[in-house]
Amino acid sequence: ARRADSGGIVVIGLGRFGCHLAGSLTRMNREVLAIDRSPAKVQRWSAQLDRVVQADATEEGALRQLGISSFGRAVVAIGASVEASVLTVLALVELGVPQIWARATSQKHAKILASVGAHHVIFPEAETGDRVAHLIVSRLLDFI
Ligand code: ATP
Repeated sequence: ARRADSGGIVVIGLGRFGCHLAGSLTRMNREVLAIDRSPAKVQRWSAQLDRVVQADATEEGALRQLGISSFGRAVVAIGASVEASVLTVLALVELGVPQIWARATSQKHAKILASVGAHHVIFPEAETGDRVAHLIVSRLLDFI
């Protein structure tokens, strides 16, 4: 495994959340390897991101071939398919990725992700909703 990648971040799933995450990390000068199983998504983001590859992330062998085990961090940004997200986390655990971040769409989904070995579970929709609610209320106070 190439240790040079240990500061790099793997982003899996280039939906609305994953593509923004990968773009922000790239602008922060992080080495990003983006993975999506859809050839259309790979094509769509190949100009904006440094490395975008087409692969089914639930396949441990495919991830191994991409050299994922040398990365220090991975983010599973798949949302809609609980099965794909859980199997992807499992594959990353098997490959020994030290820091695995995973996106959950429900509390039950979060429990499964944690139990298979995700180190950090995030809820982008819930977190954004909370943040915007606070923003709106604090702005409202300006007008009372
Ligand atoms: P968002 O809200 O971020 O748009 P979503 O929940 O609407 O996400 P998902 O179906 O979760 O969309 O898919 C997010 C991305 O993950 C898609 O681009 C999809 O192609 C990709 N994806 C889904 N399953 C896999 C997989 N097994 N391997 C790699 N990529 C996958």
